[in-house]
Amino acid sequence: MASSSEIFGSHVYDLQTMRKKLPGATFVALKSAVEDGAPIDESHANVIAHSMMEWAVSMGCTHYTHWFQPMTGLTAQKHDAFLDMDANMQPIERFTGAQLIQGEPDASSFPSGGMRSTFEARGYTAWDPSSPVFIMTNGNVPVLCIPSVFFSYTGHALDKKTPLMRSMKALDKAASRALALLSPDRGRLRVQATVGCEQEYFLVDRKLYEKRPDLIMAGRTLLGCRPAKGQQMEDHYFGSIKNRVLEFMNELETRLYRLGVPSKTRHNEVAPHQFETAPFFETANLAADHNQVTMEMIKKVAAEFGLAALLHEKPFADVNGSGKHVNWSMLASNGSNLLEPGHEPHRNLIFLYFLVAVVDAIHQRGSVLRSTIATAGNDHRLGANEAPPAIMSVFLGSHVSGILDKIGTASDFSEQIMESIDLGLAQLPDIKKDPTDRNRTSPFAFTGNKFEFRAVGSGQSISIAVAIINAAVADSLNEMNQALEKLDGKIDEKSVCQVLRPFVERSKAIQFEGNNYSEEWAQEAAKRGLSNLKNTPRALSIWEDADTRAFISGLDVLSEEEMDARYSVRLEHYAKMLLIEASLMLRMIDNYVLPPSFRYQRDVADSVGELEELAGSAGMKAALGQQTQYLEKLAVCIGDALAGRECLETLVDEVSGIEDEKEQALACAEKLFPHMEKARAACDELETLVDAGSWPLPSYHELLFLM
Ligand code: ADP
Ligand code: MG
Repeated sequence: MASSSEIFGSHVYDLQTMRKKLPGATFVALKSAVEDGAPIDESHANVIAHSMMEWAVSMGCTHYTHWFQPMTGLTAQKHDAFLDMDANMQPIERFTGAQLIQGEPDASSFPSGGMRSTFEARGYTAWDPSSPVFIMTNGNVPVLCIPSVFFSYTGHALDKKTPLMRSMKALDKAASRALALLSPDRGRLRVQATVGCEQEYFLVDRKLYEKRPDLIMAGRTLLGCRPAKGQQMEDHYFGSIKNRVLEFMNELETRLYRLGVPSKTRHNEVAPHQFETAPFFETANLAADHNQVTMEMIKKVAAEFGLAALLHEKPFADVNGSGKHVNWSMLASNGSNLLEPGHEPHRNLIFLYFLVAVVDAIHQRGSVLRSTIATAGNDHRLGANEAPPAIMSVFLGSHVSGILDKIGTASDFSEQIMESIDLGLAQLPDIKKDPTDRNRTSPFAFTGNKFEFRAVGSGQSISIAVAIINAAVADSLNEMNQALEKLDGKIDEKSVCQVLRPFVERSKAIQFEGNNYSEEWAQEAAKRGLSNLKNTPRALSIWEDADTRAFISGLDVLSEEEMDARYSVRLEHYAKMLLIEASLMLRMIDNYVLPPSFRYQRDVADSVGELEELAGSAGMKAALGQQTQYLEKLAVCIGDALAGRECLETLVDEVSGIEDEKEQALACAEKLFPHMEKARAACDELETLVDAGSWPLPSYHELLFLM
């Protein structure tokens, strides 16, 4: 069989390539590390490291780096040369097992949420053998990247990947236990979470981008009036792709293949200049690494094509924002997808069992899941009428929800009831083949044989969201397994449905098949007791909740300290982002909005003054009246912008001075942000009035329609 590096190019040194290069015993040790998480002893590690180095050097690398995902949500690297001195102090090429296994970057400047003070900045990176090493080239410089986890001297996880991997372990344990109970004859199967993310992004011409400090510094436009034509015509979605963009996409995909990212689909999205790329699904930790690589490559390749890629969740007001649909399922080691309904979903006990576990998980832990996607950028989407709302709910489609209804309401699982379920479904086609049964407005939708979590932000790391899905499902499975154990091996449709019933009943409130964007749903959800936390600090406060903390620490996904750290880092990051945006907005009002507005006001005033001297006739007087009114409108608008900037300046000072993290974040969300919107409105109004030729910022119309 060809290895993926042979198919995709040669920038990944994966297991199949290594099989050909490594001695048998070493390969076996590596394989069990990859598949079962077994430790690798140093002698094998030395052989593996040497082989990696030989490959990397043959590809032109002089350096390697542990490649990791600190709590910033970005990736980090620190390069080291494959260089050592021999006994005679002569330079030699060397890369040892110890260097492969562990690195020690100076960790002082990464966020730790208070877990590690900067004066004791020891942080370590450790090789994750389950994610193959790859070569990333920047400029013409290739570097060997070793996917790693990042932790502190005290053993606390400082990154996004460790909790994800721990959650996969918890899910494997709970799900494989369930499989063993449901079908004892199959032997022990392992279960892995699988993920495929559809990544949305915008492209704009780089020359225009470079003229917008807000796009450069904040990733979104802080100002800008809406173009006359937006996406009303719906002519961009799945439309033919412009040559320049198609060439970009082609290059992006080639590069992604080479890095082992199995990129598959590409298309135009709903908004002008919005696009999407999606890969084949992979195990969750690989998918998370590969999504980070994808985001980096989108930006890099765009720049090479004279474009700028915007991964922000809301680059343009009033234009659809970007998300990331995280498709999620569970795969058993015999190759079966546990959420595959098959032809008789109502008789497929494994499908029903795992399906109920997911629905119950979202019901029990919806607020925690909501918190994982709370970011400054995503606040613009969640709750606006375009993206799945901040209220978590699950869409199953009529067939599957019909089955759960029967399970949930039947008081007795007699043959007759099973028959009636049977009758109700007999004439229906296979669920997967029914494309009409879709609901694009649901944040968490069953789409045939997987769930699709659609509320994730386009620019964020998927790790924590996936970790919480894994953990929540593991938690529900653990509870369900206890009930299953009581059956003492008497597994049949009736007994399993009886186990499922209380879980179906208690999770009923989370199921919603209607329009999630509607006001009625917000009201209905409130009645059902579902939370609707519209801003980041409010959504994050679930991390203070004792039950949530017990759930996460109980499954060993994050310790108490690690949770506190993440909570603190995210509050701080949110407040920083908003304060940066507000300060930048002030600058832009002063340097970009007011100067052309004053100049234009003077031009209009001069013109009105001249007219006044000429005005004799009634017609001229009327014209003078109109033009004076126009001047007044302009002057009032400049006044509003001035008042807006004054108030913004005061608020930035005030909010910057708040010491308490949570209080500060809340003030940003509930005082500063609304005021930014107000100040913006006056500036955008000015943009509609002032001479376009002298407006220094590229307009929405140029950004979204020129390329
Ligand atoms: P959609 O139904 O959303 O139009 P696709 O069938 O193309 O889309 O799938 C979208 C994404 O879902 C792809 O990235 C794909 O790899 C992923 N996906 C498909 N099956 C699974 C699965 N079993 N587990 C996780 N992700 C999956
Ligand atoms: Mg999709």
